Amino acid sequence: MEFETAKSRVQELRDLLNQYGYEYYVLDQPSVPDAEYDKLMNELIEIEESFPELKTADSPTQRIGGQVLDAFEKVQHQTSMLSLGNAFNEEDLRDFDRRVRQAVGDEFSYVCELKIDGLAVSLRYEDGYLVLGATRGDGTTGENITENLKTIRSIPLRIKEPLSMEVRGEAFMPRKSFEALNEAKMERDEVPFANPRNAAAGSLRQLDPKIAAKRNLDIFVYAMTDTGELEIDSHSESLNLLDELGFKTNRERQTCETIDDVIAYIESWQTQRPELSYDIDGIVVKVDSFDQQAELGTTAKSPRWAIAYKFPAEEVVTKLVNIELTV
Ligand code: NAD
Repeated sequence: MEFETAKSRVQELRDLLNQYGYEYYVLDQPSVPDAEYDKLMNELIEIEESFPELKTADSPTQRIGGQVLDAFEKVQHQTSMLSLGNAFNEEDLRDFDRRVRQAVGDEFSYVCELKIDGLAVSLRYEDGYLVLGATRGDGTTGENITENLKTIRSIPLRIKEPLSMEVRGEAFMPRKSFEALNEAKMERDEVPFANPRNAAAGSLRQLDPKIAAKRNLDIFVYAMTDTGELEIDSHSESLNLLDELGFKTNRERQTCETIDDVIAYIESWQTQRPELSYDIDGIVVKVDSFDQQAELGTTAKSPRWAIAYKFPAEEVVTKLVNIELTV
């Protein structure tokens, strides 16, 4: 590709991605399927890699998530809430495995988890009590949505030990709640939500917690920060501790010793996915040991010790009485 062609395509892609990002992250109303967004984002990443002089700090490739709504009090995250690098095929997964091996050698294991299609939230506990709940926002600053998060019954308001720490998880809307919500919306001639992810995000960013309370949201907690005082050395141990403290973690996780085992886990969930009562959009693969995670480090946008495998796009057409939505 010629430089001038690349330059104008980069501008075109940035405009499109910024528009889609705004619709998705700010309005909670995407106008295109995720796979279309991912395809354009990949094209932009590839052009920026071939023409590094076209890379800018404000490119969508360099940003995490969306803008923070002014309607909510802003929250500075004590530890940044990062995004994840993506893998779309076996080759991407094997490349990731090679990079991990180069950095830490051959003695390590992965933890594979379902990638819940909801929105990332952080929960801060002080002396065992929930004091703050926030959205990821742009990774550094999120929105204070404590009152809305308190309506999720699986979030403990008080944990079993008087610990001060932050946990992270994915808040989501189970499929049944989503279907009931959209049916009710259509009975009232309101625009239905495009998918459970957007319905969950829209519900948690309501100013009136009574609305969130009616939406039957749920959460899977998948990480804790500030683990310094706790005697744990790995991600799998932290998930077990989260269970013991009273959090809801996802029990489908699996430790894998090789990338072949990771691929088998992914293939098996690709088949079982429709049987779940909630949406997943992929599988997250994480290096288990905290020491090895620290060795691998992070980029500005995502940790080098984890990757999100995205399932291929499902051309599902959900028939909603008199309208059709491609999700
Ligand atoms: P991401 O979805 O690629 O992955 C990161 C997120 O995965 C984390 O922040 C966390 O919220 C989530 N997650 C779920 N389960 C997890 C687990 N077990 N462990 C760790 N994390 C877990 O990145 P993103 O920045 O949240 O979103 C980007 C994606 O959003 C795009 O790839 C695209 O598919 C979608 N998007 C779509 C549109 C659109 O217009 N359709 C616009 C913008 C973004």
